[in-house]
Amino acid sequence: GTDGPLAKEIAKVIPYFPYKKLDRFYDIGGVLKHPKLFNAMCSVMAKRYRKLGVTKILGFEARGFLFTPVAIKLGVPFVMLRKAGKMPNTISSGPYTKEYEGVDEMCIQKGALVPGDKVILIDDLIATGGTLCAGIELVKACEAEVVECSCMIELKALKGRDRCLKAGAKDVWGFI
Ligand code: IMP
Repeated sequence: GTDGPLAKEIAKVIPYFPYKKLDRFYDIGGVLKHPKLFNAMCSVMAKRYRKLGVTKILGFEARGFLFTPVAIKLGVPFVMLRKAGKMPNTISSGPYTKEYEGVDEMCIQKGALVPGDKVILIDDLIATGGTLCAGIELVKACEAEVVECSCMIELKALKGRDRCLKAGAKDVWGFI
């Protein structure tokens, strides 16, 4: 991740509060109220991914969809990963467990990736890594490569990073 002044500014505008079983919930909506900050963050990501030769950006329903500006800046397609039953003609990750809301199933549309695609998986936050691992499985099933799992916030103590690396991601990057 980054520990520069931009990351510190972003951390300041992300509120957190108790939610369901968690003692904290980080609300990245705070960043969306600050267009210059959000744009600067997307630019840092785009610059990083341009260097890595990324061909597609994949975002997770729902808050991962906020990162379309990164794909636009890079000039590459943005692909939606959605929960089961939301899109036609999909392949599914199979069920996976989430930190705070039980079981889910992630899907990608057939043909969204071609073998050899170099993709970034983006979400707002990585906790246990279960969500990102479901995405990694989908990318592998399409014979494409996860160049990096990327998120605005990494909850380092939950070690989601190790899980993603084990599942086949080349790298994991948290902005803060
Ligand atoms: P994981 O699958 O355990 O890594 O949990 C990450 C998923 O849960 C992501 O899709 C997040 O959007 C969501 N999530 C978990 N905790 C938080 C939080 O504190 N703020 C926002 N989203 C969260």
